[in-house]
Amino acid sequence: MKKILTLAFLLLLPLMLFASLDPYSLGVGTVILDAGHGGHDPGTSFAWAFAGGTVYERDLTLDITKRVGSLLAVSHPDLVLVYTRSDDTYLTLAQRSEIAYTTELRNQTSALFVSIHVNSAQSREASGFEILTKLQSKRVKLMDESTPLTNLAMLSGFSQVTLNRMLNHRNLVVASLFEETFSETLITSRNRGIKERDIYVLNASRVPSVLVEVGFLTNEEDAKNLVSPQWRQRVAQAIALAIERCL
Ligand SMILES: [Zn+2]
Repeated sequence: MKKILTLAFLLLLPLMLFASLDPYSLGVGTVILDAGHGGHDPGTSFAWAFAGGTVYERDLTLDITKRVGSLLAVSHPDLVLVYTRSDDTYLTLAQRSEIAYTTELRNQTSALFVSIHVNSAQSREASGFEILTKLQSKRVKLMDESTPLTNLAMLSGFSQVTLNRMLNHRNLVVASLFEETFSETLITSRNRGIKERDIYVLNASRVPSVLVEVGFLTNEEDAKNLVSPQWRQRVAQAIALAIERCL
């Protein structure tokens, strides 16, 4: 009898371990790419003579996002790529989050939400990139009736408190990987570090998320970079590499 119980335990052990895996630290199978702003929300804008007029954040974020998607589609064809927008349309912040948490994941995989933005400041001196992450103190309701069944199966073994703790942990890991990758690859840009911010798409997100501010449109050097397709390709490569390091 004892032998049978031991055998049953050994057979069940992998299933028990499987069921208790941190759902946010599973391999990433889905990446949600979120191009900031769009449509009647231009984001930040600034007129530069060298650009021949006003430059809009919504156009830069869409261009960089598409480049990131193209790079990942080639390097990781198995990865499911979801775009919150793929043209110049307006989406509310809630719609962006909803796209992320209603995407059905492949079993035992996690998602990563990457929001791409361009910064601005009163001072023209401010420059460089920032990696923004959710407020650790912000508690998120991580499951409800809109949660797809596959996702629910991965989350339901945990309390909301435990899930929030695991989500916070994963968010910091992701932010660190992005900061490291950016500082290694965008060596001429100032590294402004990782910042916890009260931003809707981060704080309402039910999946691990990061928001990258790739440069300041109000700074001349950064703006010259931002209007250059070659530089936007370099930024896209940095973002794609950071995402690959999170997989
Ligand atoms: Zn923005």
